[in-house]
Amino acid sequence: MSLLVVGTVAFDAIETPFGKTNKIVGGAATYIGMSASKFYDHINLVSVVGNDFPKSAIEMMQNHHMDMEGLQIKQGEKTFFWAGKYHNDMNTRDTLETQLNVLETFDPKVPESYQDCECLMLGNLMPAIQKKVLSQLTERPKIIVLDTMNFWMDNCLEDLMEALKNVDVLTINDEEARQLSGEYSLVKAARKILSFGPKHLIIKKGEHGALLFNHDEVFFAPALPLEDVFDPTGAGDTFAGGFIGHLCATKDYSFQNMKTAVIIGSAMASFCVEKFGTERLENLSDEAVEQRIQEFVKLVQFDISLK
Ligand code: AMP
Repeated sequence: MSLLVVGTVAFDAIETPFGKTNKIVGGAATYIGMSASKFYDHINLVSVVGNDFPKSAIEMMQNHHMDMEGLQIKQGEKTFFWAGKYHNDMNTRDTLETQLNVLETFDPKVPESYQDCECLMLGNLMPAIQKKVLSQLTERPKIIVLDTMNFWMDNCLEDLMEALKNVDVLTINDEEARQLSGEYSLVKAARKILSFGPKHLIIKKGEHGALLFNHDEVFFAPALPLEDVFDPTGAGDTFAGGFIGHLCATKDYSFQNMKTAVIIGSAMASFCVEKFGTERLENLSDEAVEQRIQEFVKLVQFDISLK
């Protein structure tokens, strides 16, 4: 059994109030896989890069338990490129540039050896590609999580709405939840989005934590108050990787276990923002992860006695 991750593998150029990078390795699938690998070690990747993508980055991903049979390397073409600039509050950002490059003609192929997929993470990518990957699986995975963003709501809403009909968990941020639902209240937005198909919805609120909804219940996980947030790029994907990695490792897809998965995702995201790009995730020890999860447990635990 395995976890199949689909999403961008990219070059990013990032600007925050603390500094600026040239092209560094990023992409939704990169962050998801690196984060999930802390909990689960059979990860298959479906994505595409150009031959400008460094071998060392592919090796780095392999060292994080990612199988590369499903990664297409297009000769003479360029890797997907995204540039973004964060505002002073670090919670909002502007996309300065999105160059689809190899993504424009990407035709995903799920290798035969990936058919043992128990958990499917449809990371941020064109909704038509997310749908195509799902349609190539001979058996429906036990759990399908889909992440998307405003870019695809603006450009491919119809495909996205189709894809949503089949998913178990949708993860988006608060502004995207408002855009997708047309509701300002996140409770109303959640109710409406759940009526589009997903059985669960996670609304990420950056430094204000994350909300998990199903039709009957709601759960809130805070974000860890950090002294320094350096670069929030990839935090949402890192969250999703921790979330799906835990579900895959435990094979328990109940709401109760999703609550734990949300805490684990939040703990992983808190590492991601401490350095630029994937740097903090690259040499993260199991002990540091365990300790960070315990900090979360302490943060939310309290006793109360009402007379
Ligand atoms: P996050 O900060 O979690 O939203 O993820 C940031 C990552 O998403 C970056 O590494 C980008 O390469 C990638 N990204 C940015 N725009 C898109 C897009 N339109 N589709 C897919 N991935 C994207």
